[in-house]
Amino acid sequence: MARAALTDVLTAAQQAGSGLGAFNVIQVEHAEAIVAGAEAAGRPTVLQVSENAVRYHGALAPVGRAMLEIADAADVPVVVHLDHATDVALVEQALALGFTSVMFDGSTLPVEENLATTRGVAERAHDQGASVEAEIGEIGGKDGVHAPGVRTRPEDAARFVAETGIDAVAVAVGSSHAMTTRTAQLDLDLIAAIREAVAVPLVLHGSSGVPDDHLREAVRAGMTKINISTHLNGTFTRAVREALAADPALVDPRKYLGAARTATAHEVERLVRLLAG
Ligand SMILES: [Zn+2]
Repeated sequence: MARAALTDVLTAAQQAGSGLGAFNVIQVEHAEAIVAGAEAAGRPTVLQVSENAVRYHGALAPVGRAMLEIADAADVPVVVHLDHATDVALVEQALALGFTSVMFDGSTLPVEENLATTRGVAERAHDQGASVEAEIGEIGGKDGVHAPGVRTRPEDAARFVAETGIDAVAVAVGSSHAMTTRTAQLDLDLIAAIREAVAVPLVLHGSSGVPDDHLREAVRAGMTKINISTHLNGTFTRAVREALAADPALVDPRKYLGAARTATAHEVERLVRLLAG
């Protein structure tokens, strides 16, 4: 059984000066590919599903149970994590299913309400042996709004962690969500300052927009959990497109989804090795 606690895997990565790749699942093939890539690299990983992806499926349980089964069968440690939940009821569902980690995203709530709600989520998750990631500061709009000016202040992050009891904190240091070009410039000095001020591992969202060598620099500066979604979707979809274009008579979904799964596994293996350093 390779289902792992986020805190165990993150702490080990942080102590080793490594980054932990966390990859978003949309369908079963993604989960299979991510675990295959992590196994090929011989490294732990995080399978995560976002509230948006849950909404796409209409429910958490079918995709969530598949992730848990795939994690349990893996021969490396695999964290099963709920990404960007704004709905506390969805957090409770994930914990009941056996997810080992949840992210509560109260970043759009007023500060005091975010603190109180996040603290409550952390208590419930810890009661079940699960970890909690939460967010302070905005990381940029999902609708492609680039927000390079948004930054987390180290003292705010330290207060947020101390007052909520969370296990990992997502901070805004220059990346934004859903970038399809890898041109983001991270504030490495700010990462180092937050790392100094905060007791728990730091999480980088919007990492798809960050080029390879800059990701390594971010890890060296103090980032540990590195969330990658859009970049991997690009790999997956490119392989589907190539398979369909190469054979206009193709009808079996296994032919193009299989090609996409293989391409995604190779890219995950490459990224996991890159982040491990
Ligand atoms: Zn995110």
